[in-house]
Amino acid sequence: MMSSTSKAYLVGGGIGSLAAAAFLVRDGGMPGSNISILEAGPIMGGSLDGSGDAERGYSMRGGRMLTTDNYECTWELFKSIPSLAKPGLTVFEETLAFNEVHVSHARARLVDARRAKVPVASMGFSMHDRLELLKLSSADESTLGTTRITDHLSPAFFETEFWFMWATTFAFQPWHSAVEFRRYLHRFMLEFSRIETLAGVKRTVLNQYDSLVVPLQRWLESQGVRLITDCTVTDLDHHTVDGRFAVTGLHCTLKGRSETMLLGDGDLVFVQNGSMTDASSLGSMSEAPAKRTRAPNGAWTLWEKLADGRPSFGRPAVFNSCVAQSNWASFTVTLKDTAFFDQMQRFSGNEAGTGGLDTFKDSNWLMSIVLAHQPHFANQPADVQVFWGYGLFPDRVGNFVAKPMADCSGAEILQELCGHLRFDLDVMASANCIPCRMPYITSMFMPRAPGDRPPPVPPGTRNFAFISQFVEVPLDTVFTVEFSVRAAQIAVYELLGLDRKVPPVTPHDHSFHARFEALLKAIK
Ligand SMILES: Cc1cc2nc3c(=O)[nH]c(=O)nc-3n(C[C@H](O)[C@H](O)[C@H](O)COP(=O)(O)OP(=O)(O)OC[C@H]3O[C@@H](n4cnc5c(N)ncnc54)[C@H](O)[C@@H]3O)c2cc1C
Repeated sequence: MMSSTSKAYLVGGGIGSLAAAAFLVRDGGMPGSNISILEAGPIMGGSLDGSGDAERGYSMRGGRMLTTDNYECTWELFKSIPSLAKPGLTVFEETLAFNEVHVSHARARLVDARRAKVPVASMGFSMHDRLELLKLSSADESTLGTTRITDHLSPAFFETEFWFMWATTFAFQPWHSAVEFRRYLHRFMLEFSRIETLAGVKRTVLNQYDSLVVPLQRWLESQGVRLITDCTVTDLDHHTVDGRFAVTGLHCTLKGRSETMLLGDGDLVFVQNGSMTDASSLGSMSEAPAKRTRAPNGAWTLWEKLADGRPSFGRPAVFNSCVAQSNWASFTVTLKDTAFFDQMQRFSGNEAGTGGLDTFKDSNWLMSIVLAHQPHFANQPADVQVFWGYGLFPDRVGNFVAKPMADCSGAEILQELCGHLRFDLDVMASANCIPCRMPYITSMFMPRAPGDRPPPVPPGTRNFAFISQFVEVPLDTVFTVEFSVRAAQIAVYELLGLDRKVPPVTPHDHSFHARFEALLKAIK
Protein backbone atom coordinates (compact mmCIF):
# COMPACT_ATOMS: atom_id res chain seq x y z
CA MET A 1 0.00 0.00 0.00
CA MET A 2 1.06 3.56 -0.63
CA SER A 3 2.36 5.46 2.40
CA SER A 4 3.48 9.05 2.95
CA THR A 5 7.01 8.01 1.96
CA SER A 6 5.98 6.14 -1.22
CA LYS A 7 7.77 7.17 -4.39
CA ALA A 8 6.61 7.06 -7.98
CA TYR A 9 8.81 6.39 -11.02
CA LEU A 10 7.40 7.31 -14.40
CA VAL A 11 9.23 5.72 -17.32
CA GLY A 12 8.98 8.08 -20.32
CA GLY A 13 8.41 11.83 -20.33
CA GLY A 14 5.50 12.17 -22.75
CA ILE A 15 2.32 14.07 -21.93
CA GLY A 16 0.97 10.83 -20.42
CA SER A 17 3.67 10.72 -17.74
CA LEU A 18 3.59 14.48 -17.13
CA ALA A 19 -0.17 14.25 -16.62
CA ALA A 20 0.22 11.24 -14.31
CA ALA A 21 2.72 13.16 -12.16
CA ALA A 22 0.26 16.05 -11.92
CA PHE A 23 -2.58 13.70 -10.89
CA LEU A 24 -0.32 12.05 -8.28
CA VAL A 25 0.38 15.46 -6.74
CA ARG A 26 -2.99 17.17 -7.21
CA ASP A 27 -5.36 14.30 -6.50
CA GLY A 28 -3.19 11.74 -4.72
CA GLY A 29 -1.45 14.20 -2.40
CA MET A 30 1.97 12.70 -3.18
CA PRO A 31 4.81 15.18 -2.54
CA GLY A 32 6.31 16.21 -5.87
CA SER A 33 9.80 15.43 -4.58
CA ASN A 34 8.81 11.75 -4.32
CA ILE A 35 8.11 11.60 -8.06
CA SER A 36 10.74 11.00 -10.78
CA ILE A 37 10.08 11.14 -14.50
CA LEU A 38 12.76 9.25 -16.47
CA GLU A 39 12.92 10.24 -20.14
CA ALA A 40 15.27 8.72 -22.71
CA GLY A 41 15.40 11.88 -24.83
CA PRO A 42 16.97 15.27 -24.11
CA ILE A 43 13.67 17.02 -23.23
CA MET A 44 10.24 16.22 -21.81
CA GLY A 45 7.09 16.12 -23.93
CA GLY A 46 7.72 13.06 -26.12
CA SER A 47 5.62 13.19 -29.30
CA LEU A 48 4.16 16.55 -28.27
CA ASP A 49 7.15 18.44 -29.56
CA GLY A 50 8.05 21.81 -31.05
CA SER A 51 11.55 23.27 -31.11
CA GLY A 52 14.06 25.38 -33.00
CA ASP A 53 14.65 29.03 -33.73
CA ALA A 54 14.47 31.45 -36.63
CA GLU A 55 18.08 30.83 -37.67
CA ARG A 56 18.19 27.01 -37.58
CA GLY A 57 14.53 26.66 -38.53
CA TYR A 58 11.61 25.47 -36.45
CA SER A 59 10.44 21.89 -36.34
CA MET A 60 7.49 20.02 -34.94
CA ARG A 61 6.57 16.48 -35.82
CA GLY A 62 2.89 17.28 -35.46
CA GLY A 63 0.41 20.13 -35.41
CA ARG A 64 -2.44 19.08 -33.15
CA MET A 65 -6.13 19.72 -33.33
CA LEU A 66 -8.09 19.51 -30.10
CA THR A 67 -11.77 19.94 -29.27
CA THR A 68 -13.56 21.21 -26.20
CA ASP A 69 -16.56 18.93 -26.80
CA ASN A 70 -14.26 15.98 -26.07
CA TYR A 71 -10.83 16.02 -24.35
CA GLU A 72 -12.56 15.85 -20.96
CA CYS A 73 -9.51 14.70 -18.95
CA THR A 74 -7.10 17.01 -20.76
CA TRP A 75 -9.07 20.16 -19.98
CA GLU A 76 -9.85 18.99 -16.45
CA LEU A 77 -6.07 18.77 -15.95
CA PHE A 78 -5.24 22.07 -17.64
CA LYS A 79 -7.89 23.84 -15.53
CA SER A 80 -5.34 23.36 -12.71
CA ILE A 81 -2.24 24.50 -14.62
CA PRO A 82 -1.44 28.24 -14.67
CA SER A 83 -0.83 29.89 -18.05
CA LEU A 84 2.68 31.25 -18.45
CA ALA A 85 1.72 33.96 -20.92
CA LYS A 86 -1.46 35.17 -19.20
CA PRO A 87 -0.91 35.40 -15.43
CA GLY A 88 -4.13 34.80 -13.52
CA LEU A 89 -5.56 32.48 -16.17
CA THR A 90 -5.24 28.72 -16.38
CA VAL A 91 -4.01 27.06 -19.59
CA PHE A 92 -7.62 25.99 -20.20
CA GLU A 93 -8.97 29.55 -19.86
CA GLU A 94 -6.17 30.95 -22.01
CA THR A 95 -6.89 28.38 -24.76
CA LEU A 96 -10.63 29.00 -24.64
CA ALA A 97 -10.19 32.77 -24.91
CA PHE A 98 -7.81 32.33 -27.86
CA ASN A 99 -10.30 30.12 -29.71
CA GLU A 100 -13.11 32.60 -29.20
CA VAL A 101 -11.10 35.10 -31.23
CA HIS A 102 -9.51 32.68 -33.73
CA VAL A 103 -12.33 30.50 -34.99
CA SER A 104 -11.68 27.67 -37.47
CA HIS A 105 -13.70 27.96 -40.65
CA ALA A 106 -11.87 26.27 -43.52
CA ARG A 107 -12.65 27.74 -46.95
CA ALA A 108 -10.22 25.60 -48.93
CA ARG A 109 -10.52 22.28 -47.15
CA LEU A 110 -10.00 20.28 -50.36
CA VAL A 111 -8.13 21.51 -53.42
CA ASP A 112 -8.18 19.38 -56.59
CA ALA A 113 -5.70 18.79 -59.40
CA ARG A 114 -7.06 21.83 -61.26
CA ARG A 115 -6.21 23.98 -58.20
CA ALA A 116 -9.93 24.42 -57.67
CA LYS A 117 -11.42 24.53 -54.20
CA VAL A 118 -13.69 21.51 -54.10
CA PRO A 119 -17.24 22.25 -52.90
CA VAL A 120 -17.52 20.21 -49.73
CA ALA A 121 -21.00 21.02 -48.49
CA SER A 122 -21.85 17.62 -49.97
CA MET A 123 -19.94 14.69 -48.55
CA GLY A 124 -20.23 12.86 -51.87
CA PHE A 125 -22.03 9.81 -50.46
CA SER A 126 -24.11 7.44 -52.57
CA MET A 127 -26.96 5.55 -50.91
CA HIS A 128 -24.70 2.50 -50.89
CA ASP A 129 -21.95 4.44 -49.05
CA ARG A 130 -24.45 5.61 -46.44
CA LEU A 131 -25.72 2.11 -45.79
CA GLU A 132 -22.22 0.71 -45.47
CA LEU A 133 -21.18 3.49 -43.10
CA LEU A 134 -24.28 3.01 -40.99
CA LYS A 135 -23.67 -0.72 -40.81
CA LEU A 136 -20.04 -0.26 -39.79
CA SER A 137 -20.88 2.35 -37.18
CA SER A 138 -23.59 0.10 -35.69
CA ALA A 139 -21.44 -3.04 -35.50
CA ASP A 140 -20.05 -4.28 -32.19
CA GLU A 141 -16.30 -4.12 -31.67
CA SER A 142 -16.32 -7.85 -31.01
CA THR A 143 -17.90 -8.47 -34.42
CA LEU A 144 -15.44 -6.19 -36.19
CA GLY A 145 -12.46 -7.95 -34.58
CA THR A 146 -9.23 -7.38 -36.47
CA THR A 147 -10.92 -6.37 -39.71
CA ARG A 148 -9.80 -3.34 -41.68
CA ILE A 149 -11.84 -0.38 -42.91
CA THR A 150 -11.63 -1.77 -46.46
CA ASP A 151 -13.38 -4.94 -45.27
CA HIS A 152 -16.53 -2.86 -44.67
CA LEU A 153 -16.52 0.03 -47.14
CA SER A 154 -16.44 -0.34 -50.93
CA PRO A 155 -13.79 1.29 -53.13
CA ALA A 156 -16.13 4.17 -54.12
CA PHE A 157 -16.33 5.26 -50.46
CA PHE A 158 -12.63 6.10 -50.49
CA GLU A 159 -13.25 8.60 -53.29
CA THR A 160 -15.90 10.57 -51.41
CA GLU A 161 -15.19 14.07 -50.16
CA PHE A 162 -16.05 12.75 -46.70
CA TRP A 163 -13.25 10.22 -46.79
CA PHE A 164 -10.66 12.77 -47.96
CA MET A 165 -11.66 15.14 -45.17
CA TRP A 166 -12.04 12.52 -42.42
CA ALA A 167 -8.87 10.63 -43.38
CA THR A 168 -6.70 13.75 -43.50
CA THR A 169 -8.16 15.27 -40.33
CA PHE A 170 -7.49 12.13 -38.29
CA ALA A 171 -4.76 10.37 -40.39
CA PHE A 172 -6.70 7.22 -41.21
CA GLN A 173 -5.62 4.91 -44.02
CA PRO A 174 -8.02 2.45 -45.71
CA TRP A 175 -6.10 -0.50 -44.25
CA HIS A 176 -6.42 0.65 -40.64
CA SER A 177 -8.50 -0.91 -37.86
CA ALA A 178 -12.27 -0.94 -38.44
CA VAL A 179 -12.72 -0.92 -34.64
CA GLU A 180 -10.76 2.32 -34.27
CA PHE A 181 -12.51 3.95 -37.26
CA ARG A 182 -15.87 3.08 -35.68
CA ARG A 183 -14.74 4.51 -32.34
CA TYR A 184 -13.84 7.76 -34.09
CA LEU A 185 -17.28 7.99 -35.70
CA HIS A 186 -18.85 7.73 -32.26
CA ARG A 187 -16.37 9.82 -30.28
CA PHE A 188 -16.16 12.63 -32.83
CA MET A 189 -19.74 12.49 -33.98
CA LEU A 190 -20.08 16.26 -33.64
CA GLU A 191 -17.18 16.69 -36.08
CA PHE A 192 -19.02 14.61 -38.67
CA SER A 193 -21.44 17.40 -39.43
CA ARG A 194 -18.78 20.14 -39.47
CA ILE A 195 -15.86 18.26 -40.96
CA GLU A 196 -15.90 20.49 -44.07
CA THR A 197 -15.09 23.63 -42.10
CA LEU A 198 -13.38 22.07 -39.06
CA ALA A 199 -15.49 24.48 -37.02
CA GLY A 200 -15.26 22.25 -33.94
CA VAL A 201 -11.47 22.21 -33.89
CA LYS A 202 -9.70 24.08 -31.11
CA ARG A 203 -6.05 25.16 -31.32
CA THR A 204 -3.52 25.94 -28.64
CA VAL A 205 -2.19 29.52 -28.59
CA LEU A 206 1.29 28.42 -29.71
CA ASN A 207 2.53 24.98 -30.75
CA GLN A 208 1.61 22.27 -28.24
CA TYR A 209 5.08 22.03 -26.72
CA ASP A 210 5.09 25.71 -25.78
CA SER A 211 1.39 25.85 -24.87
CA LEU A 212 0.82 22.53 -23.07
CA VAL A 213 4.11 20.82 -22.19
CA VAL A 214 6.06 23.84 -20.91
CA PRO A 215 3.38 25.17 -18.51
CA LEU A 216 2.73 21.64 -17.18
CA GLN A 217 6.46 21.01 -16.77
CA ARG A 218 6.91 24.34 -14.91
CA TRP A 219 4.04 23.46 -12.56
CA LEU A 220 5.54 20.03 -11.89
CA GLU A 221 8.95 21.61 -11.23
CA SER A 222 7.35 24.06 -8.80
CA GLN A 223 5.96 21.05 -6.94
CA GLY A 224 9.44 19.52 -6.73
CA VAL A 225 8.94 16.70 -9.28
CA ARG A 226 12.28 15.37 -10.53
CA LEU A 227 12.48 15.54 -14.33
CA ILE A 228 15.38 13.38 -15.47
CA THR A 229 16.40 13.37 -19.13
CA ASP A 230 18.87 11.22 -21.08
CA CYS A 231 17.73 8.29 -18.95
CA THR A 232 16.61 5.11 -20.73
CA VAL A 233 15.00 2.45 -18.58
CA THR A 234 16.23 -0.84 -20.00
CA ASP A 235 14.64 -3.40 -17.66
CA LEU A 236 12.60 -3.86 -14.51
CA ASP A 237 13.35 -6.19 -11.58
CA HIS A 238 10.22 -7.77 -10.23
CA HIS A 239 8.97 -10.52 -8.00
CA THR A 240 5.61 -11.92 -7.01
CA VAL A 241 3.84 -10.73 -3.86
CA ASP A 242 0.58 -12.42 -2.93
CA GLY A 243 0.49 -13.85 -6.44
CA ARG A 244 0.81 -10.38 -7.99
CA PHE A 245 3.53 -8.90 -10.22
CA ALA A 246 5.47 -6.29 -8.24
CA VAL A 247 8.34 -4.16 -9.56
CA THR A 248 11.32 -3.99 -7.19
CA GLY A 249 13.91 -2.12 -9.21
CA LEU A 250 14.64 -0.19 -12.41
CA HIS A 251 17.71 -0.63 -14.60
CA CYS A 252 18.59 2.39 -16.64
CA THR A 253 21.25 4.07 -18.68
CA LEU A 254 21.57 7.54 -17.21
CA LYS A 255 23.70 9.92 -19.28
CA GLY A 256 25.61 6.93 -20.65
CA ARG A 257 26.15 5.17 -17.30
CA SER A 258 24.33 2.04 -16.10
CA GLU A 259 22.37 2.60 -12.92
CA THR A 260 19.94 0.62 -10.82
CA MET A 261 17.17 2.23 -8.80
CA LEU A 262 15.81 0.08 -6.00
CA LEU A 263 12.16 0.41 -5.07
CA GLY A 264 10.78 0.34 -1.55
CA ASP A 265 7.54 -1.23 -0.45
CA GLY A 266 4.69 1.03 -1.53
CA ASP A 267 6.61 2.57 -4.45
CA LEU A 268 4.85 2.76 -7.81
CA VAL A 269 6.03 2.40 -11.42
CA PHE A 270 4.29 3.73 -14.53
CA VAL A 271 5.67 2.72 -17.94
CA GLN A 272 5.06 4.43 -21.28
CA ASN A 273 4.87 1.38 -23.53
CA GLY A 274 5.56 2.18 -27.17
CA SER A 275 5.58 5.54 -28.95
CA MET A 276 4.17 6.79 -32.24
CA THR A 277 7.32 8.86 -32.77
CA ASP A 278 9.86 6.13 -32.02
CA ALA A 279 12.68 6.15 -34.59
CA SER A 280 11.47 9.40 -36.17
CA SER A 281 14.14 11.41 -37.97
CA LEU A 282 14.60 14.91 -39.34
CA GLY A 283 16.06 15.98 -42.68
CA SER A 284 17.03 19.42 -43.95
CA MET A 285 16.64 21.62 -47.05
CA SER A 286 19.24 19.46 -48.79
CA GLU A 287 18.72 16.02 -47.22
CA ALA A 288 15.84 13.61 -46.77
CA PRO A 289 15.34 12.22 -43.25
CA ALA A 290 17.26 9.01 -42.53
CA LYS A 291 15.17 5.85 -42.78
CA ARG A 292 15.53 4.58 -39.25
CA THR A 293 13.96 1.45 -37.85
CA ARG A 294 13.32 0.60 -34.25
CA ALA A 295 16.09 1.89 -31.98
CA PRO A 296 17.64 -0.95 -29.90
CA ASN A 297 16.61 0.76 -26.66
CA GLY A 298 13.72 2.75 -28.06
CA ALA A 299 10.21 3.08 -26.75
CA TRP A 300 9.12 -0.43 -27.84
CA THR A 301 11.96 -2.39 -26.24
CA LEU A 302 10.89 -2.33 -22.61
CA TRP A 303 7.30 -3.22 -23.50
CA GLU A 304 8.55 -6.13 -25.62
CA LYS A 305 10.66 -7.39 -22.69
CA LEU A 306 7.81 -7.06 -20.20
CA ALA A 307 5.18 -8.61 -22.48
CA ASP A 308 7.35 -11.58 -23.41
CA GLY A 309 5.56 -14.61 -21.93
CA ARG A 310 3.04 -12.37 -20.12
CA PRO A 311 -0.14 -12.15 -22.24
CA SER A 312 -1.88 -9.75 -19.85
CA PHE A 313 0.74 -7.10 -20.79
CA GLY A 314 -0.42 -6.99 -24.43
CA ARG A 315 1.23 -7.70 -27.78
CA PRO A 316 3.55 -4.95 -29.09
CA ALA A 317 4.16 -6.81 -32.36
CA VAL A 318 0.55 -6.15 -33.39
CA PHE A 319 1.42 -2.45 -33.60
CA ASN A 320 5.08 -2.21 -34.57
CA SER A 321 5.60 -4.92 -37.17
CA CYS A 322 4.68 -3.16 -40.41
CA VAL A 323 6.22 0.23 -41.11
CA ALA A 324 4.72 0.21 -44.63
CA GLN A 325 1.28 0.46 -42.99
CA SER A 326 2.15 2.83 -40.17
CA ASN A 327 4.46 5.51 -41.56
CA TRP A 328 3.97 8.97 -42.95
CA ALA A 329 5.98 12.15 -43.16
CA SER A 330 5.54 15.74 -42.04
CA PHE A 331 7.46 18.96 -42.58
CA THR A 332 7.83 22.34 -40.88
CA VAL A 333 8.64 25.45 -42.90
CA THR A 334 10.24 28.61 -41.50
CA LEU A 335 9.89 31.72 -43.69
CA LYS A 336 11.61 35.05 -43.43
CA ASP A 337 9.37 36.93 -45.81
CA THR A 338 5.61 37.01 -46.12
CA ALA A 339 5.27 36.07 -49.82
CA PHE A 340 3.99 32.52 -49.24
CA PHE A 341 1.58 33.42 -46.43
CA ASP A 342 0.26 36.38 -48.48
CA GLN A 343 -0.46 34.24 -51.53
CA MET A 344 -1.82 31.32 -49.54
CA GLN A 345 -4.18 33.53 -47.52
CA ARG A 346 -5.44 35.14 -50.74
CA PHE A 347 -5.92 31.76 -52.41
CA SER A 348 -7.61 30.00 -49.48
CA GLY A 349 -9.67 32.93 -48.24
CA ASN A 350 -8.51 32.09 -44.74
CA GLU A 351 -6.35 34.22 -42.54
CA ALA A 352 -3.64 32.10 -40.88
CA GLY A 353 -5.14 30.38 -37.86
CA THR A 354 -8.67 30.13 -39.24
CA GLY A 355 -8.25 27.64 -42.05
CA GLY A 356 -7.84 24.31 -40.32
CA LEU A 357 -6.30 22.11 -43.01
CA ASP A 358 -5.85 22.56 -46.75
CA THR A 359 -5.61 19.17 -48.46
CA PHE A 360 -4.47 18.60 -52.04
CA LYS A 361 -6.85 15.72 -52.58
CA ASP A 362 -5.44 14.55 -55.93
CA SER A 363 -1.81 14.81 -54.87
CA ASN A 364 0.05 11.53 -55.01
CA TRP A 365 1.44 12.12 -51.53
CA LEU A 366 -2.02 13.18 -50.24
CA MET A 367 -0.44 16.35 -48.99
CA SER A 368 -2.01 18.81 -46.53
CA ILE A 369 -0.81 22.04 -44.96
CA VAL A 370 -1.87 24.08 -41.94
CA LEU A 371 -1.15 27.79 -41.50
CA ALA A 372 -1.47 28.32 -37.76
CA HIS A 373 -1.97 31.70 -36.15
CA GLN A 374 1.39 33.53 -35.91
CA PRO A 375 3.60 33.51 -33.94
CA HIS A 376 3.50 29.74 -33.46
CA PHE A 377 6.60 29.50 -31.24
CA ALA A 378 7.32 31.34 -28.01
CA ASN A 379 10.68 32.58 -29.37
CA GLN A 380 9.48 33.39 -32.91
CA PRO A 381 10.43 36.90 -34.13
CA ALA A 382 7.60 39.02 -35.55
CA ASP A 383 9.05 38.98 -39.09
CA VAL A 384 9.22 35.16 -39.24
CA GLN A 385 6.35 32.82 -40.20
CA VAL A 386 6.04 29.09 -39.69
CA PHE A 387 3.70 26.49 -41.17
CA TRP A 388 3.36 22.73 -40.98
CA GLY A 389 2.30 20.07 -43.46
CA TYR A 390 2.27 16.34 -44.06
CA GLY A 391 1.81 13.63 -46.66
CA LEU A 392 -0.07 10.43 -45.89
CA PHE A 393 1.55 8.51 -48.77
CA PRO A 394 5.29 9.24 -48.53
CA ASP A 395 6.09 6.07 -50.50
CA ARG A 396 4.57 7.46 -53.71
CA VAL A 397 6.36 9.49 -56.40
CA GLY A 398 5.19 13.13 -56.41
CA ASN A 399 3.26 14.97 -59.11
CA PHE A 400 5.91 17.67 -59.53
CA VAL A 401 8.97 15.92 -58.13
CA ALA A 402 9.80 12.52 -59.57
CA LYS A 403 10.64 10.96 -56.21
CA PRO A 404 8.81 9.42 -53.28
CA MET A 405 8.26 12.00 -50.56
CA ALA A 406 10.31 9.80 -48.20
CA ASP A 407 13.37 10.40 -50.41
CA CYS A 408 12.85 14.14 -50.70
CA SER A 409 14.78 16.98 -49.13
CA GLY A 410 12.97 20.00 -47.74
CA ALA A 411 13.63 21.93 -50.98
CA GLU A 412 12.00 19.17 -53.04
CA ILE A 413 8.95 19.09 -50.77
CA LEU A 414 8.51 22.83 -51.27
CA GLN A 415 8.78 22.34 -55.05
CA GLU A 416 5.96 19.77 -54.88
CA LEU A 417 3.83 22.06 -52.71
CA CYS A 418 4.30 25.03 -55.04
CA GLY A 419 3.41 22.75 -57.95
CA HIS A 420 0.01 21.94 -56.47
CA LEU A 421 -0.63 25.58 -55.65
CA ARG A 422 0.79 26.85 -58.97
CA PHE A 423 2.88 29.32 -56.99
CA ASP A 424 6.24 30.44 -58.35
CA LEU A 425 9.03 28.85 -56.36
CA ASP A 426 10.20 32.43 -55.53
CA VAL A 427 7.64 32.52 -52.70
CA MET A 428 9.89 30.01 -50.97
CA ALA A 429 13.10 32.01 -51.52
CA SER A 430 13.59 32.51 -47.76
CA ALA A 431 12.21 29.12 -46.72
CA ASN A 432 13.84 26.52 -44.51
CA CYS A 433 11.81 23.31 -44.76
CA ILE A 434 12.65 20.53 -42.27
CA PRO A 435 11.13 17.19 -43.27
CA CYS A 436 10.36 14.51 -40.68
CA ARG A 437 9.88 10.76 -41.17
CA MET A 438 7.79 8.87 -38.62
CA PRO A 439 7.80 5.10 -39.20
CA TYR A 440 5.29 4.31 -36.41
CA ILE A 441 3.08 7.37 -36.58
CA THR A 442 -0.16 5.41 -37.11
CA SER A 443 0.93 2.21 -35.37
CA MET A 444 -1.96 2.78 -32.92
CA PHE A 445 -4.41 2.36 -35.81
CA MET A 446 -3.19 -1.13 -36.75
CA PRO A 447 -5.96 -3.78 -36.59
CA ARG A 448 -6.12 -5.15 -33.06
CA ALA A 449 -8.01 -7.71 -31.03
CA PRO A 450 -9.02 -7.60 -27.35
CA GLY A 451 -5.93 -8.23 -25.24
CA ASP A 452 -3.48 -6.74 -27.75
CA ARG A 453 -3.48 -3.61 -25.57
CA PRO A 454 -3.18 -4.11 -21.81
CA PRO A 455 -5.49 -2.13 -19.51
CA PRO A 456 -3.63 0.75 -17.78
CA VAL A 457 -3.39 -1.42 -14.65
CA PRO A 458 -3.08 -5.01 -15.88
CA PRO A 459 -4.74 -7.70 -13.79
CA GLY A 460 -2.42 -9.41 -11.31
CA THR A 461 -0.11 -6.42 -10.83
CA ARG A 462 0.59 -4.70 -7.52
CA ASN A 463 2.46 -1.44 -8.04
CA PHE A 464 2.63 -1.13 -11.80
CA ALA A 465 0.72 0.53 -14.65
CA PHE A 466 1.03 1.35 -18.34
CA ILE A 467 0.34 4.85 -19.68
CA SER A 468 0.38 5.29 -23.42
CA GLN A 469 -1.49 5.12 -26.69
CA PHE A 470 -1.22 1.34 -26.50
CA VAL A 471 -3.49 0.57 -23.56
CA GLU A 472 -7.17 -0.32 -23.65
CA VAL A 473 -9.43 2.53 -22.58
CA PRO A 474 -13.06 1.78 -23.38
CA LEU A 475 -14.76 4.24 -25.79
CA ASP A 476 -11.77 6.56 -26.16
CA THR A 477 -9.80 7.10 -29.38
CA VAL A 478 -6.06 6.89 -29.93
CA PHE A 479 -3.85 9.45 -31.73
CA THR A 480 -5.07 12.07 -29.30
CA VAL A 481 -3.51 13.91 -26.39
CA GLU A 482 -6.72 13.05 -24.53
CA PHE A 483 -6.15 9.30 -24.73
CA SER A 484 -2.77 9.53 -22.95
CA VAL A 485 -4.08 11.92 -20.29
CA ARG A 486 -7.12 9.70 -19.69
CA ALA A 487 -4.91 6.60 -19.41
CA ALA A 488 -2.77 8.51 -16.87
CA GLN A 489 -5.76 9.52 -14.80
CA ILE A 490 -7.17 5.97 -14.79
CA ALA A 491 -3.78 4.49 -13.85
CA VAL A 492 -3.16 6.94 -10.99
CA TYR A 493 -6.65 6.71 -9.51
CA GLU A 494 -6.61 2.93 -9.68
CA LEU A 495 -3.12 2.38 -8.25
CA LEU A 496 -3.72 4.90 -5.47
CA GLY A 497 -7.21 3.55 -4.82
CA LEU A 498 -8.59 7.10 -4.97
CA ASP A 499 -12.27 7.63 -4.45
CA ARG A 500 -12.50 10.04 -7.38
CA LYS A 501 -14.07 9.60 -10.79
CA VAL A 502 -12.20 10.01 -14.05
CA PRO A 503 -14.34 12.35 -16.22
CA PRO A 504 -16.45 10.10 -18.45
CA VAL A 505 -16.22 10.08 -22.25
CA THR A 506 -19.01 12.48 -23.27
CA PRO A 507 -21.83 10.52 -24.90
CA HIS A 508 -22.23 12.64 -28.02
CA ASP A 509 -23.43 9.43 -29.62
CA HIS A 510 -26.37 9.15 -27.23
CA SER A 511 -29.14 7.50 -29.23
CA PHE A 512 -26.36 7.29 -31.78
CA HIS A 513 -28.26 5.42 -34.43
CA ALA A 514 -31.16 7.83 -34.64
CA ARG A 515 -28.82 10.83 -34.77
CA PHE A 516 -26.39 9.23 -37.16
CA GLU A 517 -29.15 8.09 -39.49
CA ALA A 518 -30.66 11.58 -39.44
CA LEU A 519 -27.24 13.04 -40.18
CA LEU A 520 -26.63 10.67 -43.05
CA LYS A 521 -30.02 11.54 -44.52
CA ALA A 522 -29.38 15.24 -44.12
CA ILE A 523 -25.91 15.04 -45.63
CA LYS A 524 -25.86 14.75 -49.41
C1 LIG B 1 2.37 14.20 -36.33
C2 LIG B 1 1.47 14.14 -35.14
C3 LIG B 1 0.19 14.68 -35.21
C4 LIG B 1 -0.68 14.59 -34.13
N1 LIG B 1 -1.93 15.17 -34.19
C5 LIG B 1 -2.71 15.17 -33.09
C6 LIG B 1 -3.95 15.88 -33.08
O1 LIG B 1 -4.34 16.52 -34.06
N2 LIG B 1 -4.69 15.86 -31.94
C7 LIG B 1 -4.29 15.19 -30.82
O2 LIG B 1 -4.98 15.21 -29.79
N3 LIG B 1 -3.12 14.49 -30.81
C8 LIG B 1 -2.34 14.46 -31.91
N4 LIG B 1 -1.16 13.78 -31.90
C9 LIG B 1 -0.95 12.79 -30.84
C10 LIG B 1 -0.37 13.27 -29.54
O3 LIG B 1 0.70 14.13 -29.76
C11 LIG B 1 0.06 11.98 -28.82
O4 LIG B 1 -1.07 11.14 -28.68
C12 LIG B 1 0.64 12.19 -27.45
O5 LIG B 1 1.59 13.23 -27.47
C13 LIG B 1 1.25 10.87 -26.96
O6 LIG B 1 1.77 11.05 -25.68
P1 LIG B 1 2.34 9.87 -24.80
O7 LIG B 1 2.81 10.51 -23.56
O8 LIG B 1 1.35 8.78 -24.67
O9 LIG B 1 3.52 9.22 -25.63
P2 LIG B 1 4.83 9.86 -26.25
O10 LIG B 1 4.66 11.31 -26.46
O11 LIG B 1 5.19 9.02 -27.40
O12 LIG B 1 5.90 9.73 -25.09
C14 LIG B 1 6.54 8.56 -24.76
C15 LIG B 1 7.89 8.95 -24.20
O13 LIG B 1 8.41 7.87 -23.48
C16 LIG B 1 9.79 7.80 -23.70
N5 LIG B 1 10.19 6.42 -23.39
C17 LIG B 1 9.62 5.29 -23.86
N6 LIG B 1 10.23 4.21 -23.35
C18 LIG B 1 11.19 4.67 -22.52
C19 LIG B 1 12.15 4.02 -21.69
N7 LIG B 1 12.24 2.70 -21.63
N8 LIG B 1 12.99 4.80 -20.96
C20 LIG B 1 12.87 6.15 -20.99
N9 LIG B 1 11.99 6.82 -21.77
C21 LIG B 1 11.16 6.07 -22.53
C22 LIG B 1 9.96 8.19 -25.15
O14 LIG B 1 11.25 8.66 -25.43
C23 LIG B 1 8.89 9.27 -25.30
O15 LIG B 1 9.43 10.55 -25.04
C24 LIG B 1 -0.26 13.91 -32.96
C25 LIG B 1 1.03 13.41 -32.86
C26 LIG B 1 1.90 13.53 -33.93
C27 LIG B 1 3.29 13.00 -33.80
